Amino acid sequence: MVEFVEVRSKTVINKLEYRDNWYWNIYTLNPYKGCQFACNYCDAITEKYLVHENYKDFSRKIYVKVNAPETLQKETEKVERDVIAFGGVTDTYQPAERKYEITKNLLKVLLNKKFPVHLGTKSPLILRDIELLKEIQKTSWCTVTVTITTFSEELAKVFEPLAPEPEERLNLVKQLMKEGVNSGVMLTPIIPFISDSEENLKEVIKKSAEAKAKYLLHGLMTLRSNQKIRFLNLLRKKWPHLMERYKELYDGNKEPRKEYMVEINQKAFNLCKRYKIKDYIEPPNFDRELKENFEVSYSLLLLAYFYEMRGRNPYATWAYHKAAKTIEELRINIKTLHEEGKLAEIPGVGKKIKEVVTEYLEKGRIAKLEELKSKWSS
Ligand code: SF4
Repeated sequence: MVEFVEVRSKTVINKLEYRDNWYWNIYTLNPYKGCQFACNYCDAITEKYLVHENYKDFSRKIYVKVNAPETLQKETEKVERDVIAFGGVTDTYQPAERKYEITKNLLKVLLNKKFPVHLGTKSPLILRDIELLKEIQKTSWCTVTVTITTFSEELAKVFEPLAPEPEERLNLVKQLMKEGVNSGVMLTPIIPFISDSEENLKEVIKKSAEAKAKYLLHGLMTLRSNQKIRFLNLLRKKWPHLMERYKELYDGNKEPRKEYMVEINQKAFNLCKRYKIKDYIEPPNFDRELKENFEVSYSLLLLAYFYEMRGRNPYATWAYHKAAKTIEELRINIKTLHEEGKLAEIPGVGKKIKEVVTEYLEKGRIAKLEELKSKWSS
């Protein structure tokens, strides 16, 4: 039995310190707290995000932000127009949405204000709002990322017991693409030694490509706080022989060993190449002031994205994130600074990044980025 608790919220938009280089959002928005789909790998139950007293209530007690559309209306007056991602710690199209229609009303506000939107979901209920999505895509930018981790009925039953079936989700991607709304697949989390086989990755990637998904993002499972406790309990019950291997693989960290991560990412990358599907999302290109600055920033963030996939030292990639942020926040066109020989004066733009930015501004492309997109190299 699910309990719904109606709450009123003073704010609904959360601004990130750094732009997300997977989803391209700078804001997040979660109209619900808690999620009825009850996935056993869900990391929204980690303390960092949780509002429930006990993580076991996450799928039994759903907080509904009933005044979210009015609050958003006021907030959009005060913040800069930029990409909002729905559903980082909840599925905004879980069954509650059928009754409450909060997401739908939020989309109406965003359409009106021309805000670009990235929605993540597992639910075909999103098709109810297809006309709104089409309009948002027309006026700014919209993409829908549908999570599919496996087509194995057995694994889906264990890990995603109350979510729509994977085949339904694949049909959702097909339907969205047919209707002209950008859509792709999120093959994450890949669960070590359980769903990381070539066979599983291949099936999800091949079927996504056949469904004409625009992209496929892939990532391994992290393990932290409550999510780690719940997952390891399940592992102990169903796959006790894997306990030791997990201990060795994670070694007390939230991410698996780097070599393993790179090996799985490379496998997925090769399959994406084979089935001709992009393993990243093209940056949004909606109209905005100082558009060139954002284009430069997105190129730096894409470089960071590919380096991160290949297990590059996080400190090195962090420099790209920092430079991208400063460039986005400039109040002057970056081309002007380049022409005046002042690129090096931008905080965070060191020698290496200055070369990359110069290459982009002079040639309209970065050779290293093109190489990383098309072949696996470190
Ligand atoms: S659908 Fe997403 S938010 Fe909901 S339980 Fe599953 S992983 Fe968590």
